[in-house]
Amino acid sequence: MAASTFKVIVVGGGPVGLVAAHALTKAGIDFTLLERRPHVVIDAGSNLVLTPVGIPALGQLNLRAPLDAVSSPLGRIDRMDHEGNDLGDVQLFSMMKELIGIAPRVISRHDLTRVLYDTLPSEAQKKIFGNKKLSDITSTPTGVIATCADGTSYEGSLVVGTDGAHSLVRDIMRKLALQNGPSEQVNAEHPFLTTYRCLWLRFQRPANVPEGVTCETHGPGLATQLFTGEDSAVAAIYETMEKPTTERPRYTRADQDALIERWGHIPIIAGEGKLTLREAYNSRQESGLVSLEEGVAEHWSWNGRVVLAGDSAHKFTPSTGAGCNHGILDIAALVQQLNAICSKAPNASPSREAIDSALQAYQEKRRNTIVAECDRSSKATAAATWQNGVFKFVDKYVMPRNAVTRFFIGQAAKGAARNPSPNFNFGSSEVQLGKKEAWTASPVMVRAH
Ligand SMILES: Cc1cc2nc3c(=O)[nH]c(=O)nc-3n(C[C@H](O)[C@H](O)[C@H](O)COP(=O)(O)OP(=O)(O)OC[C@H]3O[C@@H](n4cnc5c(N)ncnc54)[C@H](O)[C@@H]3O)c2cc1C
Repeated sequence: MAASTFKVIVVGGGPVGLVAAHALTKAGIDFTLLERRPHVVIDAGSNLVLTPVGIPALGQLNLRAPLDAVSSPLGRIDRMDHEGNDLGDVQLFSMMKELIGIAPRVISRHDLTRVLYDTLPSEAQKKIFGNKKLSDITSTPTGVIATCADGTSYEGSLVVGTDGAHSLVRDIMRKLALQNGPSEQVNAEHPFLTTYRCLWLRFQRPANVPEGVTCETHGPGLATQLFTGEDSAVAAIYETMEKPTTERPRYTRADQDALIERWGHIPIIAGEGKLTLREAYNSRQESGLVSLEEGVAEHWSWNGRVVLAGDSAHKFTPSTGAGCNHGILDIAALVQQLNAICSKAPNASPSREAIDSALQAYQEKRRNTIVAECDRSSKATAAATWQNGVFKFVDKYVMPRNAVTRFFIGQAAKGAARNPSPNFNFGSSEVQLGKKEAWTASPVMVRAH
């Protein structure tokens, strides 16, 4: 059981922040979660694929059954080029099921956040506050004060920034480091680089296309990924930008229309359910155009007072479905460290030095894996958008060879079995994952969604 005086302020109630609420509750660590939107359950955004990276950890939080009830398993990936020519299918998902024991599942952001919120004990739900936009963090001799735009402030021992890719917590951490900390703890002002923009669309699943279908269209400058769920279909369209940027471009509805003007003729479902991007766009229920930042922050914490997790610490292209799944594992590793130091001093708050060491250990445990996974994701997007002749060759001729997929998944499973995976089982009640479920980072060169 954790120290009663240690308190975490979680900033950001996206999927990773909500998983933090579960993990902290499970570890008996007090927390307050501040979310700038009115509520943490959101009915917006693209769908997500939960992969064997994140699913076992969610299972340890007893979330697997409620998430399974509102998500769909994925079958094979059908692939074609911009002209609709078959590029060969990839049996990635069924092989994951066969070799690892877990099949990836697609879920809407609404259902994911709803399940994560609804399954929290009511006492934990009362610690979550909407309409609380963080504006500043002050470090004090005993902890931190998080101030919100509405003038309210919250005291705690540590701020956990789960406030996404454009993290204010990360910016404040940088400011604090520049003001007070040793220079080597200062992150770059813009740690992420954007090479692609992504249009995502949600529309009614076409009646002649079954649930659980994954279709991808690959070719120079643009790739699409489409998943069908029970009622809806969601497509993500990755477009190579004219020039990579570290700035944050803002997009309007006119930018979405312009992208459709450029690429509307591209097929996103082949064969019987044939559908072009323009047809899907015209029948959309919801859409958005976002930058796909990529990168890993150099420093994930500052001085035992502030720490980053999820997209605030690292941002992947979504091609391998890794961002959120790895954010979940960040929380597992972080809360394990916090639980360990709290358990050593059950009636007092751990010292700043002890918290700082725990945060360093957390980064050490996660960062190398994340750098490798970010690179893998980047290569997957580069291959799908045929960034050069080598990527095009691999995408057209190597990827469809299921023996290759099988080899990489097999290697990944073996590697994962050798490494102890971070998990949410704290203290003496620790439960070991089954061999097939002992899946950490996936050294898979292929697309996971
Ligand atoms: C098109 C697309 C498809 C994707 N597909 C997948 C996939 O299949 N699988 C996968 O694992 N990942 C996927 N991702 C990535 C995934 O969406 C992110 O990794 C995930 O959402 C990160 O969660 P997070 O909680 O860290 O950040 P976010 O989801 O960005 O949540 C951050 C939260 O912080 C809040 N916030 C921000 N600033 C403040 C502030 N100042 N004060 C208070 N609150 C604040 C925001 O309102 C938000 O609720 C995809 C991404 C995109 C764009």
